[in-house]
Amino acid sequence: TQLKVGLLFGGRSGEHEVSIASAQAIARGITAPENQSKYSLTLFYIDKNGVWHPPTVSQEVLAQGVPLPETDIQPAQLWQFPPEAAEIEVWFPILHGPNGEDGTIQGLLTLMQVPCVGSGVLGSAVGMDKLAMKGVFGQAGLPQVKYMGVTRSQVWSNPCVFPKLCDEIEATLGYPCFVKPANLGSSVGISKVRTRSELEAALDSAASYDRRIIIEAGVTAREVECAVLGKEQPQASVVGEISFNSDFYDYETKYTAGRADLTIPAALPESVSQQIQEMAIQAFTTLDCAGLARVDFFYVESTGEVLINEVNTLPGFTATSMYPQLWEATGVPFPELVDQLIQLACSLE
Ligand code: ADP
Ligand code: MG
Ligand code: MG
Repeated sequence: TQLKVGLLFGGRSGEHEVSIASAQAIARGITAPENQSKYSLTLFYIDKNGVWHPPTVSQEVLAQGVPLPETDIQPAQLWQFPPEAAEIEVWFPILHGPNGEDGTIQGLLTLMQVPCVGSGVLGSAVGMDKLAMKGVFGQAGLPQVKYMGVTRSQVWSNPCVFPKLCDEIEATLGYPCFVKPANLGSSVGISKVRTRSELEAALDSAASYDRRIIIEAGVTAREVECAVLGKEQPQASVVGEISFNSDFYDYETKYTAGRADLTIPAALPESVSQQIQEMAIQAFTTLDCAGLARVDFFYVESTGEVLINEVNTLPGFTATSMYPQLWEATGVPFPELVDQLIQLACSLE
């Protein structure tokens, strides 16, 4: 008999559109001929307001690839789930960013007592918050860039405090540095700054996105990524590289076709690839991730140093995204990858 899989997509996040594209690919993977006897697929679209939609509407959104418009909603709508949700035997949330990748949906599905693809509450939440994540990486001894954490209230409240805060950032990290909201993705709200006035503007902008802000020393490095799959015995894929022709890997570069190139496998010395794979698994395990994660690194070629940048517990999952491509190149085709992720969610280990 077929297992009833609920695919959850969209979500109240800046990465809503990316989620729709990921869900289109995953839906094809679940319904691929090799998976047909195992799974039946039911779609649940969460709109930009956070309201869940029934399978009929969700099917339409997936087919069109266009989000439903934001509307005025009643709080009660956020407490209503389509009745079909009660029949789901395993959930596959492919929600990127806040309200989906950060442990919130994972908590809701845990309360429903139905297994769920990917990390649980802890791994998702720690993986989403760049300050919490880097704190854990530091404790595990994973090498990373120097960073500082500040809060929105330090940036906004007291005009006497702010200049001192900027002095401290300049003295500790220097320029260029990166200012980021702690809990976002897709480079939203991130600035690379080179001067005091840019720093001030960047802090103000990041504070509009999040209460927690991270500032990091900038490095000049190649950007390489490794995919991890598994639970108790996580496996690492081959390493891939991103190259692009802009100041940094910002939102526009990420999502404008032709602006970034993926090289799989990356041209790296074998020892460096191996080190990256080991660090990826270590990061996955220390954060208590499960199922999947894409772990991103900076490779400083001049010194041979590998620094961990971040994990993404629900990485982009379109047919051309890095995560499935890395597994394809490692010998796991897309439909098999989707199958393995669902099986991992259902396994008790
Ligand atoms: P997101 O979770 O939004 O992807 P990242 O921390 O990965 O945020 O930053 C996005 C991009 O910004 C990176 O891919 C890289 O191009 C650039 N970047 C971020 N931090 C640094 C840094 N400390 N040094 C150099 N480049 C950085
Ligand atoms: Mg990220
Ligand atoms: Mg990133």
